[in-house]
Amino acid sequence: MSEIVYVKCPTCQTQVAWLPENAHRPFCSEKCQLIDLGEWASENRTIVAQANWHDLDD
Ligand SMILES: [Zn+2]
Repeated sequence: MSEIVYVKCPTCQTQVAWLPENAHRPFCSEKCQLIDLGEWASENRTIVAQANWHDLDD
């Protein structure tokens, strides 16, 4: 009853064991987690900027 589930790190595609001691899952490391969060944040800012442009047009 100890089947280990593996997931792929969204950032670098490394296989990561889904274990409670892996604090950064599904990422392989804190570094990859921060990279992914950074990309999400910059993408989010782009969407907000586009929304602001539409507000100016109106
Ligand atoms: Zn990674």
